[in-house]
Amino acid sequence: MVTATALIVEHTARPFVVDTVELEPLRALEVLVELKATGVCHTDVAVQHGKLPGAFPVVLGHEGAGIVRAAGPGVRDVAVGDHVLLSYSYCRECRSCLKERPYQCTQMFERNFVTEDPCRSQSMMWHDTPTYASFFGQSSFSNPAIVHEACCVRIDKKYPLEILAPLGCGVQTGAGSIFNVVKPIENEIRSLVVFGVGGVGSAAIMAAHALHIDHPELLTTIIAVDRKPDRLVLAKELGATNVINPLKVDNMVAEIRRITGGGGTDAAVDCTGAVPVINDMVGALGAGGVAVSVGAPSAAAEMSIEVFPFINGCKKYQASNQGNSLSRKFLPFLADLYMQNRLPIDRLQKQYRPSEINKAVQDMLEGTTIKPVIIWESC
Ligand SMILES: [Zn+2]
Ligand SMILES: [Zn+2]
Repeated sequence: MVTATALIVEHTARPFVVDTVELEPLRALEVLVELKATGVCHTDVAVQHGKLPGAFPVVLGHEGAGIVRAAGPGVRDVAVGDHVLLSYSYCRECRSCLKERPYQCTQMFERNFVTEDPCRSQSMMWHDTPTYASFFGQSSFSNPAIVHEACCVRIDKKYPLEILAPLGCGVQTGAGSIFNVVKPIENEIRSLVVFGVGGVGSAAIMAAHALHIDHPELLTTIIAVDRKPDRLVLAKELGATNVINPLKVDNMVAEIRRITGGGGTDAAVDCTGAVPVINDMVGALGAGGVAVSVGAPSAAAEMSIEVFPFINGCKKYQASNQGNSLSRKFLPFLADLYMQNRLPIDRLQKQYRPSEINKAVQDMLEGTTIKPVIIWESC
């Protein structure tokens, strides 16, 4: 029996507790990963507080990075000793997965959120209580963790796992919304607005800036929108050309139109999930513009579109899951960008011990830390 240190949520809205758990033997297509670091994401907190579906007790965590220490039956894509970043899980068999679009896997929900199916998701015992432990196929708030091999993305052993852990969700979601959805080169995007510059939105700003450096005629206007002044200061340092604090303008849409010369923006990404912001995002589009929803509002929320100007301007509204990223290829690309100093994600991060998980969450919610990262070696 393998024991692990885990950060457990016993019931809805309870704080994390740090305790020892027992892991079941590896099943088919599972690997045991010794984690070096795990990023903390808003989705962990949403499940902890019952804002997204969950079952308890549960071990969350879905931005793990570590080293494969054992492989279960049938594992083919990774080997013992590989350094891996952990990303979302997918089935590898549905039409989307077979077309290398796992981000729209037909089993996305069942494989990544906490389901009541005990066969799939309980692989851990906490004081003799079966505990849900396959959140995003990894539950990487446990060290070691049992991980589905589909989640594993091999990376070069010289790359810093502690820094790159958040690539698997937050960074690929933000950067992917630019590289894979907005596609600034293909669509000749000159102006972009990013609503909400926390971890995801900051990654979008960095990605847009990196593209602008290579293609100076594109993305000449990058507007960051946020209510927190210190985040706007950082966004400027990361490549935003303009910033807007919604608390300081009367009309957000008019301000964006003013900055973009009256025509509206070519592209916009919403990372806030706030419905009034999503409506403003669509309203700020120029002709041929694309608006992308990345942030998730509460389950029943609905946005609205004034249809006539939408038709007249041939505009587009679409959603993106995990930045429409094929993680196996996209994460090594992002890791290379980081190593070239072109995606400075370390500037968003603060490191915490596992015992500091509740402080890490509090700091993230208050905005004093954009991206907390749990460092397992320090426990
Ligand atoms: Zn699938
Ligand atoms: Zn996440």
